[in-house]
Amino acid sequence: MAKRSGKAEQSKRKAKQSKGKTMKYSRQREEVMHAIEEHHDHPTADQIYAELRDQDPTISLATVYRNLKFLSEQGKIQKLSFIAGADHFDPNMERHSHFVCEHCGRIYDLPAQTEETLDEEAAPYAPGKITGHDLVFHGICEACEKSFG
Ligand SMILES: [Zn+2]
Ligand SMILES: [Zn+2]
Repeated sequence: MAKRSGKAEQSKRKAKQSKGKTMKYSRQREEVMHAIEEHHDHPTADQIYAELRDQDPTISLATVYRNLKFLSEQGKIQKLSFIAGADHFDPNMERHSHFVCEHCGRIYDLPAQTEETLDEEAAPYAPGKITGHDLVFHGICEACEKSFG
């Protein structure tokens, strides 16, 4: 951090610029985090990007990807890789299962606890050490069922 006293105007401006850049990075990280928290349908990076681009034209898809990676490494969000196609992101860090609608592809949270002993039961058949599991239920969501009339 630059000291206020005895600094040339130029270096002051430089410090201000780099501070602005850092602030922009953390602001965009907050925007990404906020966008995920607003969603309860496990958005993809593309969805988040499309949404944020409207409010912040300076944001790039690479920035969104970088922040999503950072936030999941920090344990702030979960990356769901079990669905074919793009990764989905989830702000819910509690143990929970998912329900995927086969019609609209929406992913719903299922508060039901996954079976705690499932890892142990599967262990003898696993080709290596099990570190966890994802439980995904498939079906047709209510909204879709209604639209079929
Ligand atoms: Zn559906
Ligand atoms: Zn979830």
